[in-house]
Amino acid sequence: MVNIGVEINGKKVDANNLENEIEGAILKEITESIGRKVGTMRCGVHGKSPIVTIKGSDLDQLTCSVDSCCDEFTQQVARELDSL
Ligand SMILES: [Zn+2]
Repeated sequence: MVNIGVEINGKKVDANNLENEIEGAILKEITESIGRKVGTMRCGVHGKSPIVTIKGSDLDQLTCSVDSCCDEFTQQVARELDSL
């Protein structure tokens, strides 16, 4: 299963446990759509799942960063996420 983290303003947040319900709902939607896209992806070489971090200064400025076992798989996942 893909690991999706969210960082707003450099602070890790839990999309399921936000004080602001609207922001929480937006983040949940984003993480769910990422999960649908790359949730089943595994590295063909190492068999590992990617780690995706959604970062931004606020909800309008979010970018995705991908971390995984190797560059090739990271790029593969990033390409999938580009078409979000
Ligand atoms: Zn790999």
